[in-house]
Amino acid sequence: MRLFLALVPPPELRTRLGELADIAHARCGGRRMPDDRLHLTLAFLGEVDEKRAVELAEWVSTLGVAPGRWRLDSWSCFQRPRIVWIGSQRPAPPLETLQRTLWDGLEARGFPGRPARFVPHVTLLRRADSLATFDLPDIDLAWPYNKLELIQSIMDGSGAARYTTLARSGGA
Ligand code: ATP
Ligand code: MG
Repeated sequence: MRLFLALVPPPELRTRLGELADIAHARCGGRRMPDDRLHLTLAFLGEVDEKRAVELAEWVSTLGVAPGRWRLDSWSCFQRPRIVWIGSQRPAPPLETLQRTLWDGLEARGFPGRPARFVPHVTLLRRADSLATFDLPDIDLAWPYNKLELIQSIMDGSGAARYTTLARSGGA
């Protein structure tokens, strides 16, 4: 099964992110991420067999996540996949620590795939027609978090993904 670990936005922020995705979609086209799939990926694991997934879910439910607030204040894009996203102008040390310690634990459990670089971002559009984000509205949002989720991504018949949460961290 295809798995990743992510932060999930609180409901009000999810709604706001969805509104921004609509605005971006009107300007830039492409495929808008549906509201129920908006997230911040901390670790993409890819294919994991069922036995390992059960062990992983048990481990995730024992994790504590130090409460934090991530500031979202900038639009950006990834050129190659033509992704339009929002993230931070400045580095977010607590989030980087969370991602690093998470990967330390994953590697200790034999999971490969730690990326060379972590760019915290929330994908709003994929395969955008335009990557011009300069005239999108100014943003300054806060994302309070205190837990992470282990999520399974299931491809449905139409080729779109559906997400299901398998486990949540215990919180601080
Ligand atoms: P779709 O692929 O249908 O557009 P999706 O990208 O939301 O849907 P997944 O491809 O399962 O669904 O991805 C789940 C999460 O993992 C997303 O945040 C995605 O950006 C990230 N991800 C997917 N593939 C990789 C990869 N090879 N390396 C790093 N992160 C990835
Ligand atoms: Mg994908």
